[in-house]
Amino acid sequence: MSQKYIPADLREQLLAADDRRCVYCQTTEANTGQPMTVDHIVPKAQDGPTQFDNLCFACRRCNEFKGSATVAREPLTNEIVPLFHPRSQKWNDHFDWDASGTHVIGLTAIGRATVIALNMNNAVIVDARRRWVSMGWHPPEL
Ligand SMILES: [Zn+2]
Repeated sequence: MSQKYIPADLREQLLAADDRRCVYCQTTEANTGQPMTVDHIVPKAQDGPTQFDNLCFACRRCNEFKGSATVAREPLTNEIVPLFHPRSQKWNDHFDWDASGTHVIGLTAIGRATVIALNMNNAVIVDARRRWVSMGWHPPEL
């Protein structure tokens, strides 16, 4: 899952690419006060390598909900689809914010399945986002 040894140069690459935010739900370290975890997009247990193309910053919540999953059920068609891949896909192509800025909306099958699999709109994070929006700290610009 995460927090296995990550060489310093890889950590620097992740910092440059992900800017201390979760690549899935866009939560920032500054808003939570919690350091990002390092997610193996394809888990090590499934032979996912510890290299940049397979690593990303993720908040602890997204990382834990993601677990070892690489696919999830798409709610409209009930088909199994791949989860969002932050190194080969763009967040804006698959997700958007609702008008309030508190809920992530899946725009595609991949986006919808990922929102559900990672529980990206659970009550706790939505309440936190509501506070961040009121302060002008959220949603982050991409
Ligand atoms: Zn997250």
